[in-house]
Amino acid sequence: MSRENSRFQSGSGVYKCEHCGRRTRETGQGEDGRYCACCSLIFEAQNSFVDGAMDEEGFREMVAHWKKRYRRPFDEDEFQKLVAEVKRMLEW
Ligand SMILES: [Zn+2]
Repeated sequence: MSRENSRFQSGSGVYKCEHCGRRTRETGQGEDGRYCACCSLIFEAQNSFVDGAMDEEGFREMVAHWKKRYRRPFDEDEFQKLVAEVKRMLEW
């Protein structure tokens, strides 16, 4: 890769994820310009949980799956917050 090329890469679409605060960039893997790919995928799973397409255990599995895929530790506190948000939305 030429130097010209890498400079172009580093300047394009870099932003900070609003959920986890990691610096990220658009790679076309599910980022939406606010969140990194990992958080976007977790929020997608959260929406399925809200829709009733999966239960809490299914949601936990999806979060664990994406965290593993992006080499991030599973954060129980974060998971509980995501579940609490859903429960608030559904008024359980
Ligand atoms: Zn993130």
